[in-house]
Amino acid sequence: MNISSNLSSYRQMHIYYIRRLFKTSLLVLVLSLFNLQLINASELDYKLVAEPVGKGTYVFIGSTKYFSKKNGGNIANAAYVVTNSGVIVIDTGSSYQYGKQMRKYIESTTGLSIIKVFNTHHHPDHFLGNQAFKDVSIASLQGIVNAIDSQGEALNTNLYALVGDWMKETVAYSPTEVVTPGKITIGGHDIEIIALDGHTDSDMAIYDHTTGVLFAGDLIFHDRTPAVANANIQNWLNSIRQLQELDYTYLIAGHGPVTTDQHAMIQTHDYLSWLHETLQSALDKGLDISEALELELPKRFQALDILHEEYKRGVLQLYPSMEQAYFE
Ligand SMILES: [Zn+2]
Repeated sequence: MNISSNLSSYRQMHIYYIRRLFKTSLLVLVLSLFNLQLINASELDYKLVAEPVGKGTYVFIGSTKYFSKKNGGNIANAAYVVTNSGVIVIDTGSSYQYGKQMRKYIESTTGLSIIKVFNTHHHPDHFLGNQAFKDVSIASLQGIVNAIDSQGEALNTNLYALVGDWMKETVAYSPTEVVTPGKITIGGHDIEIIALDGHTDSDMAIYDHTTGVLFAGDLIFHDRTPAVANANIQNWLNSIRQLQELDYTYLIAGHGPVTTDQHAMIQTHDYLSWLHETLQSALDKGLDISEALELELPKRFQALDILHEEYKRGVLQLYPSMEQAYFE
């Protein structure tokens, strides 16, 4: 063999190995994309299963934690009522994905169409699934519609930063119908729309007189620390006292398990009263925000989920404006 034939066979061998390497890399790439697809598809499944609440009412109970990539933003309760003309949906969850999965579950288990959707307030964990119900009338109070119109997209962007891919393709879709407080009949159910405030500037509770189920939205938290970022605590306490007057059989809170008694109402009222008094007395003592953040939390609230986390978030949101009002 001469030098040139040696070079030629070396070149051929070189090309052969490069081709083999290319084929292997391509195979690895295809397999990993396929794998990624599988992981993403299963990761984006909220695995929604509704719990019955009495006869004909169902609730999807969300996590009692804060937003995370793990829970995909599924931290609130969403519910539905099966009537003889179709299904009424109360709140649509935290993303387009959630709304779609919720709708598929409801339609496949009931065999009925959705005839009405309500939003209890403008927080993203309660309305960002609206997009999956675009062909249905989505109803809410004027104040809630205004809040979604003006803040919805910013809340959507913020949630994307917190939970990531779960928010894919989600846009803030506003309610299409304004309801006023009072009674309406839908599918044979006497539904009372109750306009309140305190958790936000406009909160809607819904009382189904036909079944005795009260949908309290985020005016009531159960075994989960109330979120006070947009709160007016005095107004919120008044709203709870109004809800306590109702003769309900079941209470569906915005977060946490369903109850039949006053426990969740008393718990939410107790925490909010304590928070208000504690922050007022912190101002009286001249504590700054870092000292207010370090205050000891009573033992009786230790059973509330994410107590320390939500307390801190609440102080950071409320204390600066309370300080300003105090000194003015
Ligand atoms: Zn809320």
